[in-house]
Amino acid sequence: MKFIIVMLDGLRPDQLDEAVTPNLAELSKIGLRLARHTSSFPSETRVSSAALATGGHSSAHGIIGNRFLANGRSIDGSSLSALLRLGSERGGVLTATAIGEVLAAHGRAMLSIGSQSQGSFGLSSWGSWQAGAPAYWVHDPLKFSNNAAVRRIAPTFPMLPPDEGPARATIERVVDLFFSFLKEGTLPEVSLLWLSEPDITYHMFGLQHRTAREVLHEVDRQFGRIFAWWSEKGEREGVQLIAASDHGHAIIGEKVSVLKHLQRSGFKVGYELTPDVDAAITAQRVVNIWARDRESHLLTEMYHSLSEEPWLGVAFSRQTSDGSPLIASTLPLSAVMAEHPRSADLSFVLADCGAESRRASPDAVYYDGTYPIGVGMHGGLSAHELSSLCILAGDAFRSGVVAAPTSIVDLVPTILSSLRLPLPSTVHGRIIDEALPDREDGGQYDVEDASVSIACSARRSTVFRELYRQRLYLRGAAVTRLAQPKNDRPDADPTELKA
Ligand SMILES: [Zn+2]
Repeated sequence: MKFIIVMLDGLRPDQLDEAVTPNLAELSKIGLRLARHTSSFPSETRVSSAALATGGHSSAHGIIGNRFLANGRSIDGSSLSALLRLGSERGGVLTATAIGEVLAAHGRAMLSIGSQSQGSFGLSSWGSWQAGAPAYWVHDPLKFSNNAAVRRIAPTFPMLPPDEGPARATIERVVDLFFSFLKEGTLPEVSLLWLSEPDITYHMFGLQHRTAREVLHEVDRQFGRIFAWWSEKGEREGVQLIAASDHGHAIIGEKVSVLKHLQRSGFKVGYELTPDVDAAITAQRVVNIWARDRESHLLTEMYHSLSEEPWLGVAFSRQTSDGSPLIASTLPLSAVMAEHPRSADLSFVLADCGAESRRASPDAVYYDGTYPIGVGMHGGLSAHELSSLCILAGDAFRSGVVAAPTSIVDLVPTILSSLRLPLPSTVHGRIIDEALPDREDGGQYDVEDASVSIACSARRSTVFRELYRQRLYLRGAAVTRLAQPKNDRPDADPTELKA
């Protein structure tokens, strides 16, 4: 049995339709669609890459954000050399075992071809490129692999335009390369193809723009080339075809600078932990704050300076030695499976926008960063960002729909168990046995509401979670203002956001 996983970066499942994505629509008809599939938290690409590779959340694999602070240094996860400051190619970068390592340890191989950032590519195929398996990063073919097939194929393709956006030629290259590797010989047990669209275009234009729809159509057309090969040949050869995404998208409705807010409130903060600051922050949809001495007093003051702002979403802090969150009235990072020695001291998501912005765009959220208002963004805990695509097809799966909770961390255990390989102890996910061909699925699942809330005088913060088969699945988050904040925005209705 073999697996081909085609990751379509940032594709939110509600964007599928017969006209724009006919191939994916067809795949979901003949295959099995996971209707309640979600990403890990934070819903950022490098975190998702590590979650896909390890079957664990960030508390296991340690890639706690696209960018984070470790040992006082800022780690930009888009760069392999930055990631390697955490350890080496042999260990210490991911703190969980990756599927590439399991395959290599059992004499199996993984083919990876991708157009995402260098760091994400390295994480998603961790353990396989180090073992000499074919790993072809389209932007620099020999960066990850001295593999003979990679060396043979690389000179046959011209250089891609740098930083192409929309990345039409770039994603076409990923699929062209797949067929080049097919010609070279048989496929290994697992092939992972990562297309950096529609994410790039969503970040440029939002989801509804004409160009975004055109690029999504192009993504589907490229996927369709693999699907056509699979329908004609691959399926009969026992290949399982998986189309999935790493996260969804929300829309930037309003912008905020948390750094400026903290500086105006008198705190010495910066984006790096330089000698003149007391704390360093990273900000996008999730804001992380590391205090120099990791001491709770300063962090508590900072949290209070933020707590009445309309853009403050659910806040978390790391656990102290007695198990309680470092900052009162925040939830522990473990509530979202994100507690790790590398975790920030204080970490919060930016909220959904107020009702007025959400009338124009129901998925409008606050954002801190360089993208403009109106374009797509992800990383937070909104249902739109967590929502991810997953369609499984082949004789290892039944067809239809599974509406039980599933997430990106469930893919590794499902694949490894189908290959009869052991699951690493760091796996958080479960085998999606509702997907197996001999299972009856009456659509009845024993799902328990495991939402967690914390309230203080001004606000109640809730993370919507479900407990299913002893695993927690994230569904969304909401903040209810208990007293009117100074900007006097109407409250978000948590029930509305739960779907
Ligand atoms: Zn992504």
